[in-house]
Amino acid sequence: MAFDLSICPWIHCAHYDGEIWVEEFIEQNHLSFEAENALEEQDYQNLINARNHLQHLPLVNYTTQYGLCCFEGLKAFPQVDGSLKLFRPDRNCARMDSSMKGLRMPPLRENLLLNAITETVRRNQMIGFTPAYNPKWEDDFWLSGEAVYIRPFTYTEPGIGINLTTRPWVVTVCTTVSAYFAPGKNNAVTSRRIRATPLGIGWIKTAANYVSSALANAEAIDEGYMVAIFLDSLTQENIEEGSTSNFFALFPGKRLVTPPLSDTILPGITRESVITLARNRGMDVHEEILPVKKVLDEALECFLTGTAAGITPLGSLTHQNRSKEFSSLEDDSVSISLLKELKSIQYGAMKDPFGWMFDV
Ligand SMILES: *Cc1c(COP(=O)(O)O)cnc(C)c1O
Repeated sequence: MAFDLSICPWIHCAHYDGEIWVEEFIEQNHLSFEAENALEEQDYQNLINARNHLQHLPLVNYTTQYGLCCFEGLKAFPQVDGSLKLFRPDRNCARMDSSMKGLRMPPLRENLLLNAITETVRRNQMIGFTPAYNPKWEDDFWLSGEAVYIRPFTYTEPGIGINLTTRPWVVTVCTTVSAYFAPGKNNAVTSRRIRATPLGIGWIKTAANYVSSALANAEAIDEGYMVAIFLDSLTQENIEEGSTSNFFALFPGKRLVTPPLSDTILPGITRESVITLARNRGMDVHEEILPVKKVLDEALECFLTGTAAGITPLGSLTHQNRSKEFSSLEDDSVSISLLKELKSIQYGAMKDPFGWMFDV
């Protein structure tokens, strides 16, 4: 994984004191970007590890003990014109609101998070800690492109008896990332594990959901696959999503299908964007139940969507000893063409007709 934990110096911290959100931008210890990169390995590690601590956050609390936490993941992309722009941060902020509501946390003040994200990225850019655009990235259609990954997350007050939070923090940190999935065969396998159940919390981007995903993925990797795909909990017959990404299948007639949003599916912003892109180019897009058998029998291509990789074309899907190969990874596939279109908009190489890109 290309997530290395070099947290950028500027972070944002908001705390609900019972009545209001009190916020601060914090500049953690740092040298210049160049001086840090010239440090000996151990000194560098010490410096960036120190930036992954906030002294006053409690050790024992509902987040560390019970997974009571929701978070977001979004990116700011270096643009062809030299600027830096956020991809749909308004949608991430709306989803954070709905996650916090789902966990009965006090609501954030309007625009607090959007301003925090924008300003934190801007401050890190001002001190030279965000990547600059590199035309070389165009050679592999931005597969090797870098971006600023922004991670806002909640953290709770001290407590050891199981409880909900009334005085959470929302902390926002940034780090630089490059391509998430190394290009390869991209083979997926269905998992027998359950990620989410009806009336559960699968629709919330909460820490509590990700242990099942990590276990399923580790098992998939043990068996020689890249990624696990979750089926529905009731029948185990229908595809729901990848471990941290949404699932699409392409059928003859340019018919693109993704499972409908429900309380077991995470409402991905990349998912939403791909639906828009596909409809905009005249494809026949449906949000409907997607039986794994139908995918194995009829699908031409499959891909996953998520902020980390954008679009990840799948080369094959295996379910109960039956495997199907797809043409998703071929140069002229619909998956690759949607990936190129999405990345072109994100890196500012193509006009943004949907108003998705926000100035930093
Ligand atoms: C974050 C996430 C996604 C993808 O959402 P994006 O907004 O596209 O990044 C999909 N599924 C799960 C379970 C997730 O946590």
